[in-house]
Amino acid sequence: MSPEPPPLEPSVWDAVIVGAGAAGLMAAAEAAICGARTLLVEKNRKPGVKILMSGGTRCNITQATDNRGIVAAFGAAGRFLHSPLAALSVAETIELFHSEGVLTKVEPTGKIFPASDKAVDVQAALVRRVERSGATLALGEGVLEVQREDEGFRLTTTRRIVLARKLLITTGGQSYPGCGTIGEGYRWAAQFGHTIVAPRPALVPITTPSTWVRALGGITIPDVLVRVRDEAGRALAERRGSLLFAHFGLSGPVILDVSRVVSGHPQPRSLSLECNFLPALDVEQLVASWRAQAQVAGKKQLLSVVAEQLPQRLCEALLATAQLSPQMKVAELSQRAWHEAAAALLKQSIPIEGTLGFKKAEVTAGGVALGEVNSSTMQSKLVPNLFLAGEVLDLDGPIGGYNFQAAWSTGTLAGRKMAEDWA
Ligand SMILES: Cc1cc2nc3c(=O)[nH]c(=O)nc-3n(C[C@H](O)[C@H](O)[C@H](O)COP(=O)(O)OP(=O)(O)OC[C@H]3O[C@@H](n4cnc5c(N)ncnc54)[C@H](O)[C@@H]3O)c2cc1C
Repeated sequence: MSPEPPPLEPSVWDAVIVGAGAAGLMAAAEAAICGARTLLVEKNRKPGVKILMSGGTRCNITQATDNRGIVAAFGAAGRFLHSPLAALSVAETIELFHSEGVLTKVEPTGKIFPASDKAVDVQAALVRRVERSGATLALGEGVLEVQREDEGFRLTTTRRIVLARKLLITTGGQSYPGCGTIGEGYRWAAQFGHTIVAPRPALVPITTPSTWVRALGGITIPDVLVRVRDEAGRALAERRGSLLFAHFGLSGPVILDVSRVVSGHPQPRSLSLECNFLPALDVEQLVASWRAQAQVAGKKQLLSVVAEQLPQRLCEALLATAQLSPQMKVAELSQRAWHEAAAALLKQSIPIEGTLGFKKAEVTAGGVALGEVNSSTMQSKLVPNLFLAGEVLDLDGPIGGYNFQAAWSTGTLAGRKMAEDWA
């Protein structure tokens, strides 16, 4: 183990930003460019750890849409993003990365990635920009306590006392706590009187007690319609997209996107996932197409007919849930059995146990209540000179680059507004 770094002299800054993630890196460069003496403090030895691991280490930077598309994707909370997106739009985000030498590409799902497929290129560009801006980046220095002092703040870090005229909290949420995000920002905001909307895991894999589901671990189905239903049969969330079977249950974009209603439910075990594995067809169409085949090839086994459009192992498992033998000759199937087979593929109900929790959640839902933050400045409405940006806020979007866009834009606006006194 390397020795502890020596303590530092106390220091005074115009703007101090806690957390060098997506929002903090943007904010620090912006504040320094706008004229503030800026310190960016990060507990990890590397800045932007989540950027590095994001998008399967490819970093899905944003989504190919306009500002309105981003706002809409966040639902009711989306209107909070109008001013941040006016400060840094989707187009300006892409331009910013291009100007830093990170070319981008758009994938068919609308996700925008660096052309190199390397998240490290995104992180390195942001760090370069911070360094060029004149902001000081202090790595391996965790902030332990934050207190108000006169007009500003006094921070106790693992290495020194830092005095800040303006303070920006960009400590993220509390998902993937192994990355350093353990929710300290919530504690400080609460200490300053802010309401914290109960944090819960979002964009997180879902677990199930169904052994047949877990036994299919590793299989991906590109187009599945998924609905989360409660005991009364009400659909709480619905999404269509790619689904991945895993040894604990289900994952993949479509599952991550509906997971927030599971983690936010008081009794997740009362919920189920209804999966339609062939969403382009209805039961009648599917039965008609199977029966047409059965008429010309009655000796075919049920499985070979059913498994034409889906993996055989999945179809075997789905037929088993309807107590249908995959070896049955199709000529012997009753109309009712055909319908049961079709329902097994198009209306398969999978019981839910819960989620993999904060440990494996890509984002945290909940956080600092938006009503207490001025979205035109990102400044706290309760505490002068305190700013908040990024995932620490009660803002979480779907999969597809939306969460980074919220962090880039809120971080940029906060950095700019913090520096106004020195511009
Ligand atoms: C596995 C994974 C993949 C993801 N993929 C994508 C994707 O492809 N696209 C997308 O849009 N979103 C993705 N996300 C979500 C995205 O990473 C976050 O929404 C985004 O990073 C939030 O930015 P932030 O700056 O608010 O917080 P973070 O990026 O989490 O940064 C917070 C920083 O604060 C630091 N910090 C915390 N407490 C302290 C303290 N006390 N002192 C000093 N420093 C502190 C942390 O170490 C961290 O560096 C992914 C998340 C995960 C976990």
